[in-house]
Amino acid sequence: MTTTSSARIGGSWLLDEGTPDELFTPEKMTDEHRLMAQTTDEFVSAEVMPVLDRLEQKDWALNRALVRRCGDLGLLGLSAPEEYGGLDLDKASALVVVERIARSASFATTYGGQANLCVLPLVLFGTTEQKAQYLPRLISGEMVGAYALSESGSGSDAMAAKTRAVKQGDGSWVLNGEKMWISNGGFADVIIVFAKVDGEHFTAFIVERAFPGVSSGKEEHKMGLHGSSTTPILLQDARVPAGNVLGDVGKGHKVALNTLNYGRFSLGAMCTGGSRAAIGDAARYAAARRQFGQPIAAFGAIKHKLGEMVARTYAVESLAYRTAGLIDDRLAGTAKDGASMARAFEEFAVEASIAKVAGSETLDYVLDENVQIHGGNGFVTDYSAERYYRDARVNRIFEGTNEINRLLIPGMLMRRALKGELPLISAARRLQDEILTPSVPGSAVIERAPLADETRVVASFKKVVLLVLGTAMQTLGEKVSEEQEVLSYLADIVIDTFAAESATLRARAAASGGLEAQHRAAAQLFVHDAAQRVDAAAKNALSGMADGDTLRTLLAALRRVLKPVPVNTIALRRLLAEAATARGGYILNV
Ligand SMILES: Cc1cc2nc3c(=O)[nH]c(=O)nc-3n(C[C@H](O)[C@H](O)[C@H](O)COP(=O)(O)OP(=O)(O)OC[C@H]3O[C@@H](n4cnc5c(N)ncnc54)[C@H](O)[C@@H]3O)c2cc1C
Repeated sequence: MTTTSSARIGGSWLLDEGTPDELFTPEKMTDEHRLMAQTTDEFVSAEVMPVLDRLEQKDWALNRALVRRCGDLGLLGLSAPEEYGGLDLDKASALVVVERIARSASFATTYGGQANLCVLPLVLFGTTEQKAQYLPRLISGEMVGAYALSESGSGSDAMAAKTRAVKQGDGSWVLNGEKMWISNGGFADVIIVFAKVDGEHFTAFIVERAFPGVSSGKEEHKMGLHGSSTTPILLQDARVPAGNVLGDVGKGHKVALNTLNYGRFSLGAMCTGGSRAAIGDAARYAAARRQFGQPIAAFGAIKHKLGEMVARTYAVESLAYRTAGLIDDRLAGTAKDGASMARAFEEFAVEASIAKVAGSETLDYVLDENVQIHGGNGFVTDYSAERYYRDARVNRIFEGTNEINRLLIPGMLMRRALKGELPLISAARRLQDEILTPSVPGSAVIERAPLADETRVVASFKKVVLLVLGTAMQTLGEKVSEEQEVLSYLADIVIDTFAAESATLRARAAASGGLEAQHRAAAQLFVHDAAQRVDAAAKNALSGMADGDTLRTLLAALRRVLKPVPVNTIALRRLLAEAATARGGYILNV
């Protein structure tokens, strides 16, 4: 789908310069992608947004009917094989769909529980019989799905689950336990349940609500997402047929992790769509609301907010599309089976975690500023700003908290480096030599091209990653996993690097279409601000690993490596804000 000659491996973008050609971006959407986007947009506008209040009154029959409509429109089995009713489309198609469903956060959660957390694990790990039995009815929306991993005592530490499964003489299973906070829990028909066989072997089961001993507890009273069902799932001597183990006994972690690898990418994409929608609300409100005799959009303080909202959204959108392209490139030419897909998701688990963390935190930033731009109206229920704000908060908590995802990002990179899959260690050593002998020319010669300065800054971010990562591995060794603050700062640098490079490469490619100036401004602004964050994060991380003269030497190396470029950020924000206000929203992906 994209134009790479050979597929990249996850994390390899840290080691060389990317090129605009290799990136999938919104500007490269095919007619098929645009059709999926339009179908979803029309469905959400016409059928979901007008009934949000009814969904919030917990009208689950309506929720089910909307799932059914998604099935009619082909939105539930985008990546599923055609033989089971799916569309077998690329991940970019799934991306454009979830981005657009996200406008209705409650229903997006219902949708995610079905398409990402129930259909997907069946596609990845189901046997032919299991797929034939469940997928057609889940993909048509006749059945609703859910995914029950968490328990009251085991959320982040999911493998500590207490739910037990005991094999019976006839090969069937009896499950006992209580799952917690399960999306679609109040009305799901099919639930992927994780339990420990004999209290030991973590295993996934396909459980129907209709099985004896399966029920749901009371609806949770939540801060947001009032139109999404969240309940415990109670398993009291629940009888599960022999054929309903998903994957292998004792290999439930594979089902759980691979589902979440994709779920995180998808959640990041949903957050991007939510940010775009909120920028539209904010820009329209700012244009219409008058104070001191003029629209508030005319004030510099409001332009600052709108410009920043656009630039951050642009970066996170760019990295989400890039990740979809990376996964699709990886899948191109491989067998279209569940195992190949699971391998591709695992390959890009770092990028998926980046999308999840960056997407959810950008969305919260955008929605907070949206409330602020709405003033008092942002705090009352007559306007959607307060609902968006409440609904979004959970994105930083579910699908692995952002703390856990931050720890995973450098953890996975280091594991790959140690296994020799990603030559980060040798690259870090080369960088050390380069810093000690500054006469050695840099490996990359970047020609004077659009955004050449930003391209150079992004290259310097990669060196900062190597400097901090190399120092962490050298000074902390195996103890590095205990230094969560260092790992979290490192994750922040990796996130900003991927986002900044994705934005810069996309803006370099967007050389036509009349929006070049906006693309460039968004990338320049993001890279500039990211440089300040990268600098601060690197200083903090290094200070946790060294002191005295060693720390001074490391900070001097940081100064030599990191090369920020001065730009007029106020002018850039104004340009983006004025474009958003004039056009009534985010204009870089329409
Ligand atoms: C609305 C909603 C819908 C949900 N839907 C589902 C669903 O469909 N299926 C499902 O299985 N689950 C679901 N969940 C559960 C969700 O996945 C968990 O809440 C989440 O994984 C966090 O677990 P926890 O709540 O136990 O928090 P904890 O794990 O107790 O974490 C509390 C805090 O400690 C931090 N922390 C924990 N461990 C570490 C560590 N090792 N290092 C550093 N910090 C750490 C966390 O980051 C967090 O800040 C849902 C939750 C909500 C609120």
